[in-house]
Amino acid sequence: MNISSSLKIKQGCSNVPILKEKGQNEVFCGLTGIIWLHRKIQDAFFLVVGSRTCAHLLQSAAGVMIFAEPRFGTAILEEKDLAGMADAQDELDLQVEKLLERRPEIKQLFLVGSCPSEVIKLDLSKAAERLTLKYAPNVRVLSYSGSGIETTFTQGEDACLASIVPTLENTPSEELILVGALPDIVEDQFLSILKNFGITNVSSFPSRTKNNAPKVGKNVKFILSQPFLGDTCEALEKRGAHHIKAPFPFGEEGTTMWLQAIAQEFNVSQDKFEEVTNGPRNRALKALEKIKNKLSGKSVFFFPDSQLEIPLARFLVRECGMEALEVSSPYINKKIVLSDMEMLPQGPVISEGQDVDLQIERCKSQKPDLTICGMGLANPLEAEGLATKWSIELVFSPVHGYEQAGDLASLFYRPLKRREVLQI
Ligand code: SF4
Repeated sequence: MNISSSLKIKQGCSNVPILKEKGQNEVFCGLTGIIWLHRKIQDAFFLVVGSRTCAHLLQSAAGVMIFAEPRFGTAILEEKDLAGMADAQDELDLQVEKLLERRPEIKQLFLVGSCPSEVIKLDLSKAAERLTLKYAPNVRVLSYSGSGIETTFTQGEDACLASIVPTLENTPSEELILVGALPDIVEDQFLSILKNFGITNVSSFPSRTKNNAPKVGKNVKFILSQPFLGDTCEALEKRGAHHIKAPFPFGEEGTTMWLQAIAQEFNVSQDKFEEVTNGPRNRALKALEKIKNKLSGKSVFFFPDSQLEIPLARFLVRECGMEALEVSSPYINKKIVLSDMEMLPQGPVISEGQDVDLQIERCKSQKPDLTICGMGLANPLEAEGLATKWSIELVFSPVHGYEQAGDLASLFYRPLKRREVLQI
């Protein structure tokens, strides 16, 4: 197959008018990112400065971790703390001191802000500077906001990574950074492919430990593995690094285009590219073939939630034969999702933002076979007879790359299968 020819389609969605809505929206809190980030960054601790609600959210989203010492926690700010912000800062310092004394393995401490008004008034960036001076060089203290006000649940990772960028060391050498917190198994698959291409100076961001953090400079190139990392992308560009633009590595085609964008930047020959990727590409195609007939011809409607919507719609339409009715994303940053939009055939309504009542009406009137939405909408839509899939599952599951292409398609088939079984 001529790989680059697969990109060319007559009418992509990159220039279709975008329906922009600004009404009541249904999004999930940015603290959620801690659930996958604390697993990924092995020497980090995430200290949420928040309310009891924040503590409950984390505890229930993370599942019960009673047998292990978790690497996240919540410092609960009571209403009475509003009276004395100076006391709140002293209290925070005291909690950090106790934590670091008890957990010497922590090398990176993130103070994570939340949305209660008493927390917003607390200057966590100043606290992070003060505490870094106290605990450097052993522990680095950073801060970011995971607030649930007007943000999406994936923005927590973006804010976290963007907060690390200014601390990365400079390098004059040509290096590649894979940006985005991928499950270790997926990251290792990509690193192995890149090594077989002959690209050796590769690092991942976030790194598993502080000591393995990537370096940055004008000869550094980076590629995003998640479409929700707009602030991180900008922060890396400000440090002089070059953004490699590509479709996201979902499915056989997306992964091939993503790897090919890297290969072109690092002068990997087409022969080498094919030699390295042929095996995994064929495995991905075979896995997709098994599931494709179950999805083909079915319609799908995306509510805005994870910011993965456009790349996933491209995958479902082009590789699984589904028909997209509406593809909605909380934000559409064309700098990041342009390649996916160019590959997504025209047809669906492309919408940005949300007016949830209007969108529910559109969805109900179109009666899609499958609706991808946030957790808050899933039950009401199921009650209306629609099969739903939580978008958050697509961030928690290993879905990138060749070896996961079949699993990714299967995730979309599961709600359809459940409905088939229930109807028998
Ligand atoms: S940050 Fe805000 S939205 Fe998120 S759990 Fe805390 S109170 Fe709720």
